Amino acid sequence: MPQEYIEIRGARENNLKNVSLRIPKRKITIFTGVSGSGKSSIVFDTIATESQRLLNENFSMFVRNFLPKYAQPEADSIENLSMSIVVDQKRMGGGSHSTVGTITDINTILRMMFSRIGQPHVGPTNVFGFNDPQGMCPNCNGLGRKLDVDMDKFLDTSKSLNEGAILFPEYNVDSWGWSNLINTGLFDPDKKISKYTQKELHDLLYSEPIKVKTKMGAKDFNLTYEGIINRFTNKYIKQDLKPSLSGLKNRLSLL
Ligand SMILES: [Zn+2]
Repeated sequence: MPQEYIEIRGARENNLKNVSLRIPKRKITIFTGVSGSGKSSIVFDTIATESQRLLNENFSMFVRNFLPKYAQPEADSIENLSMSIVVDQKRMGGGSHSTVGTITDINTILRMMFSRIGQPHVGPTNVFGFNDPQGMCPNCNGLGRKLDVDMDKFLDTSKSLNEGAILFPEYNVDSWGWSNLINTGLFDPDKKISKYTQKELHDLLYSEPIKVKTKMGAKDFNLTYEGIINRFTNKYIKQDLKPSLSGLKNRLSLL
């Protein structure tokens, strides 16, 4: 079969200065160059846009109203286009437990295979899942790396709470989180963290949940104080686990 080309003449989209080129079809072509040299202008704004625009022209006016609108790219001619598929540079969705295996679902098949033919036999499919509570490594929760709080970045022990000892922005002095913490009345806001007793520090960071009454405006509220590191862990580290676990359970129930 003779080689066919996508032929572009006089492309002037964005910063392109009258660029003409031929791109071989059914081959892999890579556009490289310094930032701002016009790679995206050729690939996305000229080729993909024109391809999409031509495709949309096949639909009736009524349907076209619902489709994205593409202006004709600035060029003298663009020929031999076929349909384009734009694969975005964005990261795929999914939490820290997403891997190629989970996204393609091949993980499920691998788990099943090991549970059926693995020797010695150690258990059902879910114990082979790195993000199933029964199968995951308890140290890293199946992440392969341990997420933890860097205390030096979280807390400046040379300061008091009133001086902004907690470096995490959620507890900036006068913020909502900070006021809540002070209003619990559990900690001396003027005492430097380095002067805290071991128990005080432990309560500040990790403490069994403590029920406290706090004032917001004129109203009293009942709050449970859970320690700033516990709160951070629950809110930011453990939350990440939940979607993948529920997704996994859905898939397991399908098996
Ligand atoms: Zn581990």
